[in-house]
Amino acid sequence: MSVNQHTHAGPPYGHPQPGYQGYQQPAYGGQPLPGVPHSPYGAYNGPMPGYQQPVPPQGYFPSLGFPSKGSPVSLNSDTSLAPNFIDSVRAPPTSGAPPPATGTSLPSGHLGYSQFGQGDVQNGIPTSAAPVQRPPAPQPFLPGSAPAPVSQPPTFQQYGPPPPSVQQLSNHMAGMTIGSIPACAPPPAGLGYGPPTSVPPVSGSFSATGSGLYTPYTASQGAPPPSVSQGLPLAQPPFSGQPVPTQRLPTEVPGFAPPLSSTGIEPSSYPPTTGAPRPPPMPGPPLSGQTVAGPRMSQPNHVSSPPPPTTLSGPHPGPPMSGLHGPPPPTHPPQPGYQMQQNGSFGQVRGPQPNYGGAYPGTPNYGSQPGPPPKRLDPDSIPSPIQVIEDDRSNRGSEPFVTGVRGQVPPLVTTNFLVKDQGNASPRYIRCTSYNIPCTSDMAKQSQVPLAAVIKPLATLPPEETLPYLVDHGESGPVRCNRCKAYMCPFMQFIEGGRRFQCCFCSCVTEVPAHYFQHLDHTGKRVDFYDRPELSLGSYEFLATVDYCKNNKFPSPPAFIFMIDVSYNAVKSGLVRLICEELKSILDYLPREGNMEESAIRVGFVTYNKVLHFYNVKSSLAQPQMMVVSDVADMFVPLLDGFLVNVNESRTVIASLLDQIPEMFADTRETETVFGPVIQAGLEALKAAECAGKLFIFHTSLPIAEAPGKLKNRDDKKLINTDKEKTLFQPQTSFYSNLAKDCVAQGCCVDLFLFPNQYLDVATLGVVTYQTGGSIYKYAYFQLETDQDRFLNDLRRDVQKEVGFDAVMRVRTSTGIRATDFFGAFYMSNTTDVEMAGLDCDKTITVEFKHDDKLSEDSGALLQCALLYTSCAGQRRLRIHNLSLNCCTQLADLYRNCETDTLINYLAKYAYRGVLNSPVKAVRDSLINQCAQILACYRKNCASPSSAGQLILPECMKLLPVYLNCVLKSDVLQPGPEVTTDDRAYIRQLVTSMDVAETNVFFYPRLLPLTKADVDSDSLPAAIRNSEERLSKGDIYLLENGLNIFVWVGVNVQQGLIQNLFGVSSFSQISNTLSTLPVLENPFSKKVRSIIDMLHLQRSRYMKLIIVKQEDKLEMLFKHFLVEDKSLTGGASYVDFLCHMHKEIRQLLS
Ligand SMILES: [Zn+2]
Repeated sequence: MSVNQHTHAGPPYGHPQPGYQGYQQPAYGGQPLPGVPHSPYGAYNGPMPGYQQPVPPQGYFPSLGFPSKGSPVSLNSDTSLAPNFIDSVRAPPTSGAPPPATGTSLPSGHLGYSQFGQGDVQNGIPTSAAPVQRPPAPQPFLPGSAPAPVSQPPTFQQYGPPPPSVQQLSNHMAGMTIGSIPACAPPPAGLGYGPPTSVPPVSGSFSATGSGLYTPYTASQGAPPPSVSQGLPLAQPPFSGQPVPTQRLPTEVPGFAPPLSSTGIEPSSYPPTTGAPRPPPMPGPPLSGQTVAGPRMSQPNHVSSPPPPTTLSGPHPGPPMSGLHGPPPPTHPPQPGYQMQQNGSFGQVRGPQPNYGGAYPGTPNYGSQPGPPPKRLDPDSIPSPIQVIEDDRSNRGSEPFVTGVRGQVPPLVTTNFLVKDQGNASPRYIRCTSYNIPCTSDMAKQSQVPLAAVIKPLATLPPEETLPYLVDHGESGPVRCNRCKAYMCPFMQFIEGGRRFQCCFCSCVTEVPAHYFQHLDHTGKRVDFYDRPELSLGSYEFLATVDYCKNNKFPSPPAFIFMIDVSYNAVKSGLVRLICEELKSILDYLPREGNMEESAIRVGFVTYNKVLHFYNVKSSLAQPQMMVVSDVADMFVPLLDGFLVNVNESRTVIASLLDQIPEMFADTRETETVFGPVIQAGLEALKAAECAGKLFIFHTSLPIAEAPGKLKNRDDKKLINTDKEKTLFQPQTSFYSNLAKDCVAQGCCVDLFLFPNQYLDVATLGVVTYQTGGSIYKYAYFQLETDQDRFLNDLRRDVQKEVGFDAVMRVRTSTGIRATDFFGAFYMSNTTDVEMAGLDCDKTITVEFKHDDKLSEDSGALLQCALLYTSCAGQRRLRIHNLSLNCCTQLADLYRNCETDTLINYLAKYAYRGVLNSPVKAVRDSLINQCAQILACYRKNCASPSSAGQLILPECMKLLPVYLNCVLKSDVLQPGPEVTTDDRAYIRQLVTSMDVAETNVFFYPRLLPLTKADVDSDSLPAAIRNSEERLSKGDIYLLENGLNIFVWVGVNVQQGLIQNLFGVSSFSQISNTLSTLPVLENPFSKKVRSIIDMLHLQRSRYMKLIIVKQEDKLEMLFKHFLVEDKSLTGGASYVDFLCHMHKEIRQLLS
């Protein structure tokens, strides 16, 4: 083939623009800030300052390795060559080929440090570029030199809480360190961060991760050294001064009391005890968007639901609200005859008046009981997600959430709020199912409320919030507890004039290293308290020393390897050309650290079908060279030097390669692909280069070609609803889990972009992605016209987003509880360390806790999440998040401090993991049973006695039934007929890494009436509930769930609106194949497009736009997401499910 030299055509996108500032955050790896238009796209607009046209190479090198089109040369066929290659790759480079690190910008970690060691260590101030608020960490923290006490006035401004909260904090500390309860001992000493598999213990602070080392967690129970826990002078009196009341918002009760008592509705779902940090959740406004005039919904948490009408005294007559306000029925027999199916029909036969002014809602038609005419529970009278979201917004959206107080429940994820870190991690990093946990395991078991934290260690922050500071404790590394190895944090108690500190997790007393010594003030607090992030903040980072690195060597900067399927389908669909075009420009936007001019990340390229093609893109070449490996049974990398290169240095060669790839394979007839060898090749390349990194694999089909990891088509929808259904979610071979293990050991993260036209077994192909902390994207029936925007946006964001490599996360807890279970995309080789080859800013790990001893109300419970990772520039760091929770002896306190969105996140992940091993029906039943137990326990222990006919929900959990129903109806647990096996496996994987905001909108999509939008304001129209009966034929709606955006058009929409939005003159002319809305110059079009843009910015994936016309066949798909309605595949409506839950609860109580 003719190989033309291509000069680099200027990036089609131009150059980075100011919006790109996320990457200029000092010492913070290239994170596109959320508020700063996350700007994968904006990034492509402006000039690129550092870009220089590379000097063309001097000599012309014929591209030796390039085969002619379609007939790649197999180097491997040359038997004399192959072994050499193998040797040179597998062994550490011995002769000739030096590690490809040459020419990259950060040859060693040390160099990297020098760039950040002085002046840039502070972790990025938001975009305003405010003056540095802390001086460079190394300066004040130099060993032996006491930090200048007054050196950071701005810090004081920002973090210096007013005296009261300071006091609170120290009081907490005092209380927490009392250690009066001999508790289980901490994990064995030496539990540092183990690197994935290989590193031997190093100097005590970094231990290997043999599972044997960690399992003794329980076995090591025992009292802490008595002399320690008892003999220590406490700087503060134990907890007496604890400002407990400040954590509780007594407003909750007053807000409700009057109407409750007057209506006879169970008042004690607001138990009299104080302790709810929640603001008054429902101060009684009428449900927005409803036509009801009366006071309905002022107690949406009290639903007297499914009793037969006769048992309800009083509720029937009267206004719509009567059902809620009515006094409890005097008696109420259980209704064993309840059946979901019948209620389904009953759900459809709604009473004639939308507002239900008739008989008591919801009673009739229960099971087989003969009842009055079919009427149903008024949907307006049951707890509304929209109302709860709106109330939280109006109550909590205006004030910053200040984290100085233990056990505060944060605002909901749907509320916009700012966070001020005053000693606890922001809810953007950690959210808990409850912020007040039972003191004993008996209580916890009784309540059945799972105790879990949803942790997003590298979460993106809005620009107004400060990124975690980077702290350098010098050569000896971070200061840690001698025994449990917890990191210095605000809850550690300094004693003996500051010479020692007592661990807040295990009570062990540790000497303060000389360089870290500081005097205490009269309250027992170090005088440098506010100068040190690790003493005053909930989240911060430590610079890790070499002890925290694999093989005791600072890491090299990571590499990205792009691996493109060039089989027939990929070429024919235009995908290969599209990817190559995109890579030309996207490579200029690799993650950068701090103010580095260019990314330290090196790149490499592979194409494949049944064989693999490696490319030498060394800068000194005039043309790229191809090396073909056709012996895929025993994968090796045929070149070392020139495979991983610096983008700027090899720009011309890379551009030439990307131009040629589509041409080379244009006539391919190869339809078969391999997959296992592709990952193996990437892994081997990273091994050879001795670095961590990420593989971006673009793959189209089931890998049926003869090779390791070859798969067969085993899709069988007949298995649905059988005991074998679980096999659809299980990988068909263990090959990929074994491979994943090797990948994790190397820090090789795999991101997978799938473009299937048929079944390709996501459950198996996704294993490596899943276990290495990677992301998976799927574009079924990919078509350039409709799908390229979505794919390119996903790819850009995926390449650019902040990511850490070779990560290990450990969650430490104070005595009495411990982390017992983990959910997410990671690998675990022991019971405590979560290992991730890569961890990006979107990935979330859900951790469950169990009691192993009693907790005390005074001490509360503490969590410390420590993440050891390598930044995108190759810097080894520890990110620490601390959170303190309250503990209670009254169940009411537990129920008052729960967070239902987080609970649902946990329950969904728990259930989605369950389907791997249990029949789906069993998983569903156990979910229902657990939630019924949670609510029954509340009813029994926290609500005051009342008729069994009343359904009484805890205020903080009043949405549990509706959200739980959404989980039960989701495609994984109850697939619709149109949902493929791959879809289910895909969704199962996605949900497992989702944060709370994502699961919230995924399970209960957001439905916005576009025609109600105010075109003159920036705000979104008020959301409405997800039910068909809320839709009007004359309006246009938008529904989004984080993966899709539907625009639904009613049949009676005014022609003018249709013209303005779609540019056509009538409803019938609207095309339902549009993937974007036309750009039209009118306020309505602009408003709708801006809403869609805004939604895209809030989500980690680019959502697919689907236009749905009312009564069109696509409407079926849309209706699937109207989750309050009965689903086509048998999922219960919200009303019916609530009735069902009520029945379950009553059975438990009786
Ligand atoms: Zn400790």
